[in-house]
Amino acid sequence: MDVSGGDLAFLPLGGTGEIGMNLNLYRFGGKWLAVDCGIGFGGNEMPEAEIIMPDPAFIAERRDRLVGLVITHAHEDHVGAVAHLWRQLRCPVYTTPFTAAVLRRKLGEAQLLHEVKIHVIAPGGSFELPPFNLQFIQVSHSTPEAQALAIRTPAGLVVHTGDWKLDPNPLVGPPTDEAAFKALGDEGVLAMVCDSTNALVEGHSGSEADVRRSLCSLIRGLSGRVVVTCFASNVARVESVVVAARDAGRSVALVGRSLRNLEAAARETGYLKSLPEFVSEDRLDDIPDDNLLILITGSQGEPRSALSRVAMDNHQRLSLGEGDTVIFSSRMIPGNERAIGAVQDNLVRRGVRVMTDSDHMVHVSGHPARDELRRLYRLVRPKFSVPVHGEWRHLSAHAALATELGVESVMLEDGDILSLAPGKPEIIDSAPVGKLALDGNRVVPLQGGVMSARRRMLFNGIVVGSLAVDGGGRVMGKTKVSAPGLFEPEDPESERISREFGLAVADLPAPLRRDDAALADAAKAALRRCVGKRLGKRPLVDVHLLRV
Ligand SMILES: [Zn+2]
Ligand SMILES: [Zn+2]
Repeated sequence: MDVSGGDLAFLPLGGTGEIGMNLNLYRFGGKWLAVDCGIGFGGNEMPEAEIIMPDPAFIAERRDRLVGLVITHAHEDHVGAVAHLWRQLRCPVYTTPFTAAVLRRKLGEAQLLHEVKIHVIAPGGSFELPPFNLQFIQVSHSTPEAQALAIRTPAGLVVHTGDWKLDPNPLVGPPTDEAAFKALGDEGVLAMVCDSTNALVEGHSGSEADVRRSLCSLIRGLSGRVVVTCFASNVARVESVVVAARDAGRSVALVGRSLRNLEAAARETGYLKSLPEFVSEDRLDDIPDDNLLILITGSQGEPRSALSRVAMDNHQRLSLGEGDTVIFSSRMIPGNERAIGAVQDNLVRRGVRVMTDSDHMVHVSGHPARDELRRLYRLVRPKFSVPVHGEWRHLSAHAALATELGVESVMLEDGDILSLAPGKPEIIDSAPVGKLALDGNRVVPLQGGVMSARRRMLFNGIVVGSLAVDGGGRVMGKTKVSAPGLFEPEDPESERISREFGLAVADLPAPLRRDDAALADAAKAALRRCVGKRLGKRPLVDVHLLRV
């Protein structure tokens, strides 16, 4: 593959053709620029992997030509994988003060704080990563300091929008800088690589100010304990909830680690300044129910989150019941519907009232609906549109809308190398893509041996046989079989399989029994047959052979 050419190219390794785990690359003059590095969630289809991320192998192999990583904003699908993948990338990171504060906390947890060089760029600021000339443009979104990125090269100017919306009254931070987008349009934009999340949604995404008004009147009318869950990174929403609580004479407590982390990052960078200190978790019972509002993590039904534990009634400090209310001030990320449903179900079972954005005005999206997309296209007037940040139906709806506006669009997905200039944009090549899973504190390939063994264990269990043999391969003492996840240790079936396994090994031909590897393989095959016959399943099988 020619990677040294003087052309300008775009290559998404994650986040295009799927929602989540964004990792975008631009190439010019043989140099590479990375934009965003995020995680995704395994969801129902991947129970073995809670957190997944794009495999950066392609750019890791070229990291001597990687000039830097720009992070557009502090959402997990844009910044969440930096700490996990940085050892493969080892490049400087460029981002705004708030996102840098969030990132530093993640790097600190991964013991990387002193290795990663973070260059803090003011919102709307410009910087040079030769051969790329870069400029942030402030956009409103559901987290502070979200930035679009103008990428200038001798081959043309690309606008990478990141996640954005047009909110005339975002409450925290300025509205989207439409004048800056118009100025780029006047300068002449070759291509706009743009957010497709809500390309199927007609109209406008709505304003955070409307949510604040609605939360105020809603919470004023409630009695009992009021619990609100939202994304911790949505600082404007956190502020709205606190304002609504204050209006209703309620003090606010934060419950959950990610909220406390985000609060610290927000206060450190000058947000939430006008708000009172929060009530600490161990003082919940000191405050009358009608004077308390609890902001809690777990809006996506995450099984270990504080809200999930409250719903199961096994949270250490917080319990809810009849007369209490939980407000989900968030959207459902696709794939999390079932987990969220289970949490809501458990709450309702305890008599708790549940309110969501489907029955009350408690949330607006941070992504542009079709009217907002139209407006941005009219400001930027790109020659070409490249829809990203969406699944195929979002990308194709976005492409169709661009076409309606007279902008030619190019559809691509992760791994496609799109040449933008010189000449007409076209997909010229492909790069290998893959997914990695976060397993405990290690990152492993989702399609690799470890995770495929995990999938097999999840559904079929694992059987381990142990046997000791003498030098000639004669079985010494009793063989033993254990199968956690298949039967209890005291199950008589375990004894029967152990016996059959012992007999099967004793029946193996003598020459084979003298060689460790051959004997272990044959013993595994024998154990697999015994288990298959008895249980009617094909579990993962392993044998521990001890030669005495
Ligand atoms: Zn995003
Ligand atoms: Zn976002």
